[in-house]
Amino acid sequence: MLEIVKYPDPLLRKQSEKVLTYNANLLELLEEMTDTMYIADGVGLAAPQIGVSKQIIVLDAGDGPMVLINPVVTVPEDTAYAAIEEGCLSLPDIRVDVTRPSRIHLAARDEKGNPLSFDADGLLARVIQHEQDHLNGVLIIDYLSSIQRQLLRSKLRSLEKLYSGAV
Ligand SMILES: [Zn+2]
Repeated sequence: MLEIVKYPDPLLRKQSEKVLTYNANLLELLEEMTDTMYIADGVGLAAPQIGVSKQIIVLDAGDGPMVLINPVVTVPEDTAYAAIEEGCLSLPDIRVDVTRPSRIHLAARDEKGNPLSFDADGLLARVIQHEQDHLNGVLIIDYLSSIQRQLLRSKLRSLEKLYSGAV
């Protein structure tokens, strides 16, 4: 299992680079990421979460493992938004209500570099958007209202202390 990068590691805040080379190394990384996601009991994992600043996502929203490379999310015009509680493998014990579009269109590449595109809703749309945020250095705590941030303050502080080695 790969080590999962935890908040507040600055690696989680970097903008990820596009994947340009599709080779055996990439396939190996995808396999390791998928294994790590399942072992960690997650529904999705983005490459920055294992310290790789590349636009790579693996996920399983209930229909088996899926790989998305260089994903581009667009939101259809008439889409409704919903607030749903999310967790994150990089933020243990933190849950945040995140408002996102309920339906998206996705364009990406598969593990061989072939283009793919589809519409997604439900959990799949949710997971894709959460993982896509990771590629842009965005975390669920960025969606906190100031009141929610106050409520989670001690949990965030303890993660920060853990990272700096103060505890
Ligand atoms: Zn996450």
